[in-house]
Amino acid sequence: MHILGTRIDTVTHNQVLESIERYIQSGTPHHVVTGNTLMLLEAEKDPTLRQILESAAIVVPESSGILWACRTMGVPLEDFLPGIDLMLSICRVAQQRGYPAFLVGSAPGVAERAKSELLQRYPGIRIVGTHHGYFKENDLPHLLSKIKLAKPSLLFVGLGMPAQEKWIARFLQTLQVPVVMGVGGSLDVISGKLSRAPSLLRKAGMEWLYRLVQEPWRWRRISQLPVFAWKVLNEPKESAHAARYS
Ligand code: UDP
Repeated sequence: MHILGTRIDTVTHNQVLESIERYIQSGTPHHVVTGNTLMLLEAEKDPTLRQILESAAIVVPESSGILWACRTMGVPLEDFLPGIDLMLSICRVAQQRGYPAFLVGSAPGVAERAKSELLQRYPGIRIVGTHHGYFKENDLPHLLSKIKLAKPSLLFVGLGMPAQEKWIARFLQTLQVPVVMGVGGSLDVISGKLSRAPSLLRKAGMEWLYRLVQEPWRWRRISQLPVFAWKVLNEPKESAHAARYS
């Protein structure tokens, strides 16, 4: 379906995991996006981002705001799937199936610490490389060849939205990694640099509030959430109808 003109796939957790397995079996590159309200607002202003989401293999509904928007527009959606939960589920599959994974993003040392954490949580998981996310244009040839040499099946990229989506779209074909997914600040959380909201807050779709307390500089982005709600409620009726059948 489309919300504010941008694509979201109304998929369940299991359907996403099945798709990921299919992408890996295919051996061809796939861009996995986790779409949230802030991304949809950004895509509304940015045609390049909107186009990237249109061309992605899948756009997973990641936030409670998307769940609310789908239901408001009359499109049934079982639940939302936070990007970090999806990343951890994929890591469990990677552990069971031996799929190699590569981590890129966050401050120097964080991806390395996230790797150690993942090894503890999923013993035997193959993390075949890590790299921080503060590289310059000049560093790209080194980073790209490091990833290509490691031949991962999964590449998790945590550079923040929309930089990671643009980076992935730019290098998807060069890298030829079957599954490349933007993970925002998930490496920070997995590494222990940031903590996650208690599960009650998460279930209530209020993780954003906890993040705001941990990182107050987010207020400007988070203050956009009511704008999203207002825009969805004021979407023309025909667009809601189209959303249901697109
Ligand atoms: N980051 C990065 N390189 C940059 C800018 C940001 O690796 O040039 C990382 C940053 O350290 C953080 C992540 O990108 O780990 C952004 O996390 P955030 O939760 O803000 O992601 P978003 O909510 O934007 O998806």
